[in-house]
Amino acid sequence: MSRGFDPILFDLDGTVVDTVVLIRESHRHAVRAVLGQELSDERLVANVGKPLLEQMQAFSPERADELYRVYREWNHAHTAELIASYDGITELLTRLTAAGRQLGLVTSKSRDAVELAFASLPVGNYFDIVVSADDSERHKPDPEPLRVALDGLGRTANGGCYVGDSPFDIQAGQRAGMATIAVTWGFFGRTDLEAVRPDIVCDTATELGQVLLGVP
Ligand SMILES: [Mg+2]
Repeated sequence: MSRGFDPILFDLDGTVVDTVVLIRESHRHAVRAVLGQELSDERLVANVGKPLLEQMQAFSPERADELYRVYREWNHAHTAELIASYDGITELLTRLTAAGRQLGLVTSKSRDAVELAFASLPVGNYFDIVVSADDSERHKPDPEPLRVALDGLGRTANGGCYVGDSPFDIQAGQRAGMATIAVTWGFFGRTDLEAVRPDIVCDTATELGQVLLGVP
């Protein structure tokens, strides 16, 4: 019988917390205010999962700094109002902790934005380590942030997995030598996720719990 995975690293946005509306509307505001453009939802969130400045460079290399500043101002002002929890995630993190699994969070968000999210939804205490965009030189899909988390936990990739909602998460996990689990409740659909060949795809927190704990 499988005993699941340990350590377990999680992505934050679209995986542990529901920031889909918050992030999409932050992008919409910035692109509208700075570039005067109306883009489709798909284009607005196409690069979510990469660091924010890189996402802004994809909209306009020349005005990325201004987009970044306007995005962050709007995003931080609306986090408390628009961030939401996913059904079953807090219960899942409680169960994993009770089962003695080491948990880490690896996100492309900056440290201050992570703290703002944790102030609105108190899930931060479940994680033995939190790696933000400020903690590594390179970012997902590069494996460096995952390696920083494993080093911080004193663990190797062996037996561990990375859980995320974006293709960049899966690619980073694969390059770090970890098992990869894609969840379909975030920014990306099953087709986009299966295209990068995650080891497992989960549609619900219950299913994810069974996979992580090795429940047959
Ligand atoms: Mg994500």
